[in-house]
Amino acid sequence: MRALALPLFLLALGTALPALGADIWVISAAKIYPAPNVEPIEDGVVVVRDGRITYAGKRDSAKIPKSAKTSSCSGGVLMAGFQNSHVHFIEPRWEDAAHQPAADLEQSFQEMLTRYGFTTVFDTTSDQANTVALRARVEKGEIRGPRIFTVGLGLFPPDGIPSYISDLPPRMLARLHQPRTAEEARAAVRANIANGADGTKLFLHTSPRQGVMRRMSADVARAAVEETHAHGKLVMAHPTTLEAIRLALDVGVDVLVHTTLGEESPWDAATLARMKSAHQSVIPTFKLWIYELKKEDVPPPVVDTLVDATLRELDSFIAVQGQVLFGTDVGYMHDYDPTDEYVLMAKAGMSQAQILESLTTAPAARWKEEKRHGQVAKGFAADLVMLAADPSEDIRNFANVKCVFRAGMPIYSRAVP
Ligand SMILES: [Zn+2]
Repeated sequence: MRALALPLFLLALGTALPALGADIWVISAAKIYPAPNVEPIEDGVVVVRDGRITYAGKRDSAKIPKSAKTSSCSGGVLMAGFQNSHVHFIEPRWEDAAHQPAADLEQSFQEMLTRYGFTTVFDTTSDQANTVALRARVEKGEIRGPRIFTVGLGLFPPDGIPSYISDLPPRMLARLHQPRTAEEARAAVRANIANGADGTKLFLHTSPRQGVMRRMSADVARAAVEETHAHGKLVMAHPTTLEAIRLALDVGVDVLVHTTLGEESPWDAATLARMKSAHQSVIPTFKLWIYELKKEDVPPPVVDTLVDATLRELDSFIAVQGQVLFGTDVGYMHDYDPTDEYVLMAKAGMSQAQILESLTTAPAARWKEEKRHGQVAKGFAADLVMLAADPSEDIRNFANVKCVFRAGMPIYSRAVP
């Protein structure tokens, strides 16, 4: 079966996934980026068997078994599959994921994630039971989709559900944790993990209503972090303010899922030094800021000033060699296209290699998967993205995706007109 030739209309019909089994596949590329800061390979091939890469290198030096089948997706720029470390499965399209037709869910994955090259995503708060059901169907091979990690139900300050998610189903809002004590925080973390969560998300400072700010206490946040770490998992936090970034440092948060917007002062040297020494990672979500400001009808010159300030925050974080993880908040943000995020990251001073790192090797290292994910190299998972053009020519090409493989299996292929 020429698995890669599956056109979109077939994918949309929810046909059975091609059983690759012991088949050996060869994927040819005009150029392969094995990893960030590694010399690209011109005219390369990748050989895949049982979902793993058995060879990645020059076509000339490849020993291709006679039985190998040739992928019809070829000739582009190949790199490791991307990770979006900030997504949400909260739109109505994901409801009742346990029972929705597989084809509909596959279509949703394509529109939101796989068509942009995401082979791994981290859901940072959703209706946990629903997301776990969605993941289970992907893992069973019923639906072509990305690997899904989730924090389950987020932890908020008491009376601290932020206004921007107040339109979610009341059923789900009622289930979000709002621990008042350290013990309640530990119990919330344990419940999430018992139900399949891969980490914890803390909303440190939130605004439930205009002019009102709720703050998670240090005791509550610290207890949640300790309990999560005791389970060998990481804590992500939505900071909102610079003060909350300092709180995140005080209590040992691992990943900040946003920069801050509208802070009066830049991220100061002392805070940046602490972020670096604590190995805290940052997910910028720049496009989201513009999206939110436009929703509020903020005048364009003010948007520019606010966004420039947040670009400088990331620039200062990179200057101390802080670890950046790619993430866009899609799912909360209804505009799925990550192109602007790449442009804004470049504007903040990130090179093509640094952006590739934030999509591949950085998240793999952060989640201790660096020996299996994030590179196009022998022994690594065959999670791959074939771009139509090289991001070294135009950074927007990171979103110009031809086809995507997960464990060697095609999970997205752009329809050829
Ligand atoms: Zn979010």
